[in-house]
Amino acid sequence: MTNVLICGAGVAGSALAYWLRRYGFAVTVVERAPAPRLGGHTVDLRGAARDVVERMDLLQEIRQVAVDSKGMSFVNASGRRLADVPASFLGGNGVVGEVEILRGDLVDLLHRVTEDETEYVFDDTITAVTQGPEGAHVTFERSAPRVFDLVVAADGAHSRTRSLIFGPESRFSRELGCYTASFTVPNVFGAQDWELFHNMPGRKMAALRPSRRPEEAKVLLGFASAPVDHDHRDPCGQKRIVAEVFAGAGWHVPVMLREMDAATDFYFDSATQIVMDGWSRGRVVLLGDAGYSPSPLGGNGTGLALVGAYVLAGEMARAGGDHEEAFAAYEREMRAFVKQCHKLPPGGVSGFVPKSRPAIGMRNLSIRLIPHLPWAGLIEKMASRADAITLRDYARGQARA
Ligand SMILES: Cc1cc2nc3c(=O)[nH]c(=O)nc-3n(C[C@H](O)[C@H](O)[C@H](O)COP(=O)(O)OP(=O)(O)OC[C@H]3O[C@@H](n4cnc5c(N)ncnc54)[C@H](O)[C@@H]3O)c2cc1C
Repeated sequence: MTNVLICGAGVAGSALAYWLRRYGFAVTVVERAPAPRLGGHTVDLRGAARDVVERMDLLQEIRQVAVDSKGMSFVNASGRRLADVPASFLGGNGVVGEVEILRGDLVDLLHRVTEDETEYVFDDTITAVTQGPEGAHVTFERSAPRVFDLVVAADGAHSRTRSLIFGPESRFSRELGCYTASFTVPNVFGAQDWELFHNMPGRKMAALRPSRRPEEAKVLLGFASAPVDHDHRDPCGQKRIVAEVFAGAGWHVPVMLREMDAATDFYFDSATQIVMDGWSRGRVVLLGDAGYSPSPLGGNGTGLALVGAYVLAGEMARAGGDHEEAFAAYEREMRAFVKQCHKLPPGGVSGFVPKSRPAIGMRNLSIRLIPHLPWAGLIEKMASRADAITLRDYARGQARA
């Protein structure tokens, strides 16, 4: 039985564990956090990613915990709605996906359906990987060293496993000059079924999104900036950065900042795309954000992770133990899809956080005009990226046909 170590129990790592177990691989997942990390906003499952969860027989369960979003609304400081994009826009396949689920609910579900047949090791990480003909020798921060046939790095955009094998992150990262923080707060705002966005001059935005639990709301704060020196593992230091950037901001921001202190699922990151020529070295392969993060601005990172896990596991099963063949096929299948998902939405960073009051006004006007101008086609094109891959039917053994 091929023995696979996956580093990272996010969407990519847990989804891969699911498929590898289904094909009969022995799977160990090592995760740095003491438990699955359940933070994050809604992710929309559309196109190929939706097909993957359907093939996992999880679509029904996902629908039961889906977030019911009526659409996106851009508001001014006093909360007046200036521009709306309803969920029904473009037949329900525009800015709001057909199935929206909280990232944490998805990670939790993937963990629950894999935990019985997967060895999860929490609170630990890989410190070194040495490859030889008999396998990959792995040492850990806490656990005893072990030998695995294959190692999959699914430890996110700042993957330490990738750095160990491929070299420093700076070689592969494309910083977009923008940061986002997300966290859950008590719903003292009365957030209901619309996602509210408020832009402020100085390239800052705050968003409030409904959760599926009415007593809580999801906050997203974003800002454009030159590189900010921060420690990926220091949420207190990250909260200080966010508090400084948003000090004096209006709308609901003061309450958001007050509640941020107590948020246990606080997540802060730069918008970083990972662009690499190759995703494998010998017995080690990259999956999800570790290999091809599209950044929160590009969107569809979770879709890429789900599809990547499906394709990687399918190709590993199809190659019958020849990992070089499997990794090459995984890359062939995924490359064009990844390239599509790396394209930023119209306006890029400036569309997300316009610079000045007039620029915000222009952006809102362009949103109001979307249905009447050719931009609707652009948005339709962005949404259709989610379908830019034809999934093979690995599970039915028809892949070689
Ligand atoms: C807590 C959290 C909240 C997020 N919130 C958002 C959001 O609001 N919006 C958005 O666009 N994207 C968000 N993301 C990123 C989003 O989840 C990914 O873009 C997408 O789902 C692809 O997932 P992934 O599994 O490749 O990477 P990730 O979701 O980043 O998962 C990587 C996993 O690896 C673990 N890990 C990291 N380093 C190590 C290490 N050295 N050893 C072992 N394990 C390690 C992490 O703890 C994490 O569980 C969030 C990620 C996390 C972890």
